[in-house]
Amino acid sequence: MDTEVLIVGAGPTGLMLANQLARRGVPAHIIDRHSGPSLQTRALGVQARTLEIYSKLGIVDRALELGKRATGANLWAEGRKTAHVPLGEAGRSATPYPYILILGQDDNERIMGDRLRASGTTVQWNTELVDLAQQADHATATLKLPDGTSRTITAAWVAGCDGAHSAVRELSAITFPGAPYEHVFYVADTEVTGTMVADEVNVYLWQAGFHLFFPMRGKDHWRIVGILPAGLRDTRDVKFEDVIPSLRSEAGAALSIKSCSWFSTYRIAHRAASRFRAGRCFVLGDAAHIHSPVGAQGMNTGLQDAYNLGWKLALVGKGQAGVALLDSYEQERLPIAQRLLDTTDRAFRVVVSDSALAGVLRSKVIARIAAFLMSFEKIQRFAFRTVSQTGIHYRSSRLSQSLDVKGNSPRAGDRFPWLQLKLSAGGPVDDLYRKLDDAGLDLFVFGQPSPREAMPDEGGLLRIHVVPADAANDAELARAKISQPSFYLVRPDGYIGLCGAGIHREAIARYLSERLHLKNGPA
Ligand SMILES: Cc1cc2nc3c(=O)[nH]c(=O)nc-3n(C[C@H](O)[C@H](O)[C@H](O)COP(=O)(O)OP(=O)(O)OC[C@H]3O[C@@H](n4cnc5c(N)ncnc54)[C@H](O)[C@@H]3O)c2cc1C
Repeated sequence: MDTEVLIVGAGPTGLMLANQLARRGVPAHIIDRHSGPSLQTRALGVQARTLEIYSKLGIVDRALELGKRATGANLWAEGRKTAHVPLGEAGRSATPYPYILILGQDDNERIMGDRLRASGTTVQWNTELVDLAQQADHATATLKLPDGTSRTITAAWVAGCDGAHSAVRELSAITFPGAPYEHVFYVADTEVTGTMVADEVNVYLWQAGFHLFFPMRGKDHWRIVGILPAGLRDTRDVKFEDVIPSLRSEAGAALSIKSCSWFSTYRIAHRAASRFRAGRCFVLGDAAHIHSPVGAQGMNTGLQDAYNLGWKLALVGKGQAGVALLDSYEQERLPIAQRLLDTTDRAFRVVVSDSALAGVLRSKVIARIAAFLMSFEKIQRFAFRTVSQTGIHYRSSRLSQSLDVKGNSPRAGDRFPWLQLKLSAGGPVDDLYRKLDDAGLDLFVFGQPSPREAMPDEGGLLRIHVVPADAANDAELARAKISQPSFYLVRPDGYIGLCGAGIHREAIARYLSERLHLKNGPA
């Protein structure tokens, strides 16, 4: 076998997967048909859940240094600000990163690319996947090399991170049902002043459409996203100047435009792959799902796909888990993509519909309903959890097993909450997200003594933390609705795999071998 994993595509999704495999010591080969990294900003919003993953990867500080934190969002209609979501407040207790980080896709790719090089893996540019065949225990890929010649390469697994027109998806006969939208989007990186609230996202709803203003690095720099007015849809080579009249009429007469450094239009579609895996091939990111950019979810969802598959491929590649573990990738990520498509599609249709009724709905009804709903803290927190992707859960996955969990405690499949705890009596308060790496499994034991029987060790994969009784710990656990006694077994990607009240060695050993398919079995 030439490599354990062949990663096709070095966009954000492929770079994240390559990083996850490299840091876990799994041999991978990453190729891209382009001659080098993309220089286009494209996606711009980095969500809290992605920043949590960046922190595990050791690149969050660099991302925070380069990006701009949008700590709130404002909704405007008919020239008036109708709603405000204080993201910082709404997400403060949920994550160390209660904001949307505005950082261009090119910068995200550069940071992940630097990290990958530092761990000894380089992208093979100018190299295109042109054919793919699957055998019982490997796949054979035909690559077109920079000099125009071909070479075949064998890999145990192939990860299609090759975007919306994925060759991996097509060569694996995975269909991509969905439809294109008739509307055409535009993006413009501008220097403008106007009514926008600085350092926050500003959404202008109007009779015939919408404009999003994202704050960018530098004074008065804004990324504007909108849909082309109907009259311009069939015009070739639309320029920024062409959209200025509609922009000015809706975002206010006070809008003063100084410059535009990048303008691009693009057509979008909403599609999800019918399967995320065919034998030895997987699809991730835009190869698996595409949808409207409303909500800044696209790039982030691809990064979460890669984080989900990365630890599973690593355990299988290192012989620590059986291949059945890989079934859970599609089981967990396909429903997330379908839900995202449904929500973004519904939201998109409301914000772009050309009908007069939709115009009234958009500029009057939605604006008022949003203003009313967003006055409730609970709804603000729900909105933050949804947009930040911290609320994503895998409760229906086969990897999720809740035993006797009480009330509204976190349950299996939920992201393990962000906690500050003393892990030893009289010790310091640790931020668990910072303290723990994501190389293994963590078993947290609350409100009960260390289990008397020897716990399974799984070759050093399982770390046990018996959290001491302490007033500060109790208050923190109560805040996170974790009842005591309880135990939580947390997967490498931070989701709860198994949880319950009284700790039982048998239940844990069974979970590890039957659900995670770990090979060591009970010690
Ligand atoms: C103008 C524009 C604006 C956007 N704005 C936003 C936004 O605001 N928010 C948001 O979330 N998303 C946005 N998106 C979408 C976002 O860019 C994508 O979701 C993101 O790029 C997906 O990353 P990916 O790695 O899955 O795929 P891609 O970035 O498409 O990367 C795929 C890579 O695979 C390579 N490749 C393809 N075929 C082959 C092959 N056969 N062999 C080898 N290599 C191959 C390509 O060269 C490419 O580098 C925007 C997209 C565009 C075009």
